[in-house]
Amino acid sequence: MLDEVRKLSAYTAYNANVDAIVNLRAEILQNLIDSFGADEIRRRIEEYPREIREPLDFVARLIHALKTGKPMAVPLTNEEMHRWFDETFKYDMERIGGQAGIIANLMAGLKVKKVIAYTPFLPKRLAELFRRGVLYPVVEEGKLKLRPIQEAYREGDPLKVNRIFEFRKGMKFKLGDEVIEVPHSGRFIVSSRFESISRIETRDELRPFLPEIGRQVDGAILSGYQGLRLQYSDGKDANYYLRKAKEDIMALKEADIKVHVEFASIQDRKLRKKVVTNIFPLVDSVGMDEAEIAYILSVLGYRDLADRIFTYNRIEDAILGGMIILDELNFEILQVHTIYYLMYITHRDNPLNEDELAKSLEFGTTLAAARASLGDITKPEEYEVGLKVPFNERSDYVKLRFEEAKRKLRMREYKVVVVPTRLVSNPVSTVGLGDTISTGTFLSYIALLRRH
Ligand code: AMP
Repeated sequence: MLDEVRKLSAYTAYNANVDAIVNLRAEILQNLIDSFGADEIRRRIEEYPREIREPLDFVARLIHALKTGKPMAVPLTNEEMHRWFDETFKYDMERIGGQAGIIANLMAGLKVKKVIAYTPFLPKRLAELFRRGVLYPVVEEGKLKLRPIQEAYREGDPLKVNRIFEFRKGMKFKLGDEVIEVPHSGRFIVSSRFESISRIETRDELRPFLPEIGRQVDGAILSGYQGLRLQYSDGKDANYYLRKAKEDIMALKEADIKVHVEFASIQDRKLRKKVVTNIFPLVDSVGMDEAEIAYILSVLGYRDLADRIFTYNRIEDAILGGMIILDELNFEILQVHTIYYLMYITHRDNPLNEDELAKSLEFGTTLAAARASLGDITKPEEYEVGLKVPFNERSDYVKLRFEEAKRKLRMREYKVVVVPTRLVSNPVSTVGLGDTISTGTFLSYIALLRRH
């Protein structure tokens, strides 16, 4: 399977960002507290700012997170503060984030034939985090050229940095007279949310070349729609960008390639509904986790089923929900990843049989297990590591529940395939595992279709 996958070429867009990681140390924190003053900080914690506009907002939310030990993410809305962060903290590591970024680097690590990655913004600091082999499409003298992405950066492009402050249980510091001891290890994430980076689109000069890009690849993996806004200061809105996004998909599909959308959570119900109803019917394949099934059902009007999935987490509800989503939005294949199992739902007429679909899911979980074991996949041989990871201890239970669901639900019009996951007990990293599963399953799905 791996060899067949490696013969494929793929395009991925739109979201990539810099993840800058800081291992928080007590001295840095104490310095920050001393420079802002404990009383000022306490007052700001009381106000509980929902977004970060100035340094004191950050310090207040950080200390609040440290006190409770709960992981939290707060958006940074003031672009000017990049400088303050970069001057105040030394980053222990910078790595790529964002689904398209993670997927591009994963495919380059597997050395698939050709990897083309596109993000509307490509500042140098981001371009440098892509792996060798990733190509970026540019237009030169009226022609499409694929350049090594590291060389294709544009000075002055807006930068999306998510700053991840990791903290350890037991760290102690003083807020005035109060001594605080961090109760749990965790992370505090400051995510960039500026208007400049929320225009998720293909730039005008490249758009006419999307059919040509489509002809050069076997599949496209699209993601990042969660970064859209309902309104922009120039009067544009989500509807405008979603119309453009639909044109992109149709242009890529002129070459009759498969398109996969990797869905990520969208807080705003209106935006979630717009993305789902505009985009899903145009693509072939959609990937998501089980919580997303419930969130999508809830905006499609299936509140009771959504609540049931949230409360009980039962396989049969996930299957029923998946069948509804597949039918209402009418695409070719839905892939769902959960901690204990992966699932495909297709209509009955899918060209692949159940065994082939199961093979594709197994390829996905094996790839994810390799990545969880090693932290990253830097060469194709590393896939083998995943083959040594056992299927999780609830595999039999999963199979039993699946058989039960088959008896209860009317599934004759569908093919539903469930495969237990390979789970690494002490993963080096869990970043991007969902994206890894979806890349592995989608590419192997295409490879299997080729056999027919
Ligand atoms: P996400 O959190 O959406 O990136 O995806 C998490 C997915 O990765 C889960 O649905 C699991 O199938 C898989 N996963 C999570 N933890 C592990 C692990 N320790 N080893 C292997 N796979 C994992």
